[in-house]
Amino acid sequence: MGTKKALVCGAGGFIGSHMVRRLRAEGYRVRGVDLKHPEFSPSAAHEFVIADLRLRESWDALLDEGTDEVYQFAADMGGAGYIFTGENDARVMQNSAMINLQAAEFAVLRGVQKIFYSSSACIYPAYNQEDPDHPNCSEESAYPAAPDSEYGWEKLFSERLYLAFARNYGLNVRIARFHNIFGPEGTWRGGKEKAPAALIRKIAEQEDGGTIEVWGDGQQTRSFLYIDECIEAVRRLMEGSFAGPVNIGSEEMVTIDEMAGMIMKIADKRMTIRHIPGPTGVRGRNSDNRLLRAQLGWEPTQSLFEGLAKTYKWIEAQANAARWNISAPAAEEVAIAAR
Ligand code: NAD
Repeated sequence: MGTKKALVCGAGGFIGSHMVRRLRAEGYRVRGVDLKHPEFSPSAAHEFVIADLRLRESWDALLDEGTDEVYQFAADMGGAGYIFTGENDARVMQNSAMINLQAAEFAVLRGVQKIFYSSSACIYPAYNQEDPDHPNCSEESAYPAAPDSEYGWEKLFSERLYLAFARNYGLNVRIARFHNIFGPEGTWRGGKEKAPAALIRKIAEQEDGGTIEVWGDGQQTRSFLYIDECIEAVRRLMEGSFAGPVNIGSEEMVTIDEMAGMIMKIADKRMTIRHIPGPTGVRGRNSDNRLLRAQLGWEPTQSLFEGLAKTYKWIEAQANAARWNISAPAAEEVAIAAR
């Protein structure tokens, strides 16, 4: 069999850039596409194209016949500060839906063998996530639908879009619902960062004994999955025959305050938490990995603490570099220094 060809959409983003690296390591011929280059290290793709995936012309030019696999990570997205304020709703829905409408159609037109679509835990109904100790995020609980954000509604629409293309046009799709993926080379400042990166940055930038701000009362619960485990799960899903949707997340649920405590331990700093009003999303959310275990015969094993420790080293290096106005070390260098 010849070299497999993959197109990674959103290859300039967090998960896409890690996926490019992984596919290259597996021997794929990789073309990456995004509106921007990866922020923190050069792309590992053989070819990296700057293009707008909302446009037909981009797909027409980029998706060759003979592309074996498409990984569709491109989306207009961010953390709670971006998707729960309401200010970006129209943009988020329109941009991401336009990308997925083109992706589904061109994957069929070009006879792509398999396409991966990254959905989100944000599709789960808000009414099942009011109790922070017992949220329900089993895959079948998605309906009757009531996501708590327009970002979640677009994801649900696009899941259905890909499934309809599978039913009517034979598209071979794999759909995962990611639950809070974090790790080195994820956005760590600027307003689109998620809770782990935001808390790590706040703690890394403060002296021992300082105060950090946490949105809400800190008792809202979540689980967080380290990037390497996410990539492994996606590759296993692509290699198998189960289409999904399936959760890809961790079942280690913590409160936001508990996670802040873990990060303080890693940083060896004692700090006061000040709770301030801010967008927090649902009260509780945890991955339910029963279907993942049953279908893939695999589940993530790395603890949240381990993942946070690795991410702390990387963000601390970025923050120090920003402070001293010097260029930040690459993720590999930070990992080596941390050993
Ligand atoms: P990210 O924002 O780092 O990456 C998305 C990339 O898409 C960005 O680089 C962006 O420039 C690109 N993009 C946006 N509009 C584009 C356009 N019109 N044309 C070309 N590229 C465009 O996000 P991520 O964390 O890597 O997430 C990847 C996917 O996984 C997204 O679809 C996201 O919704 C989904 N997801 C992520 C998480 C998470 O915790 N990171 C959780 C649930 C779902």
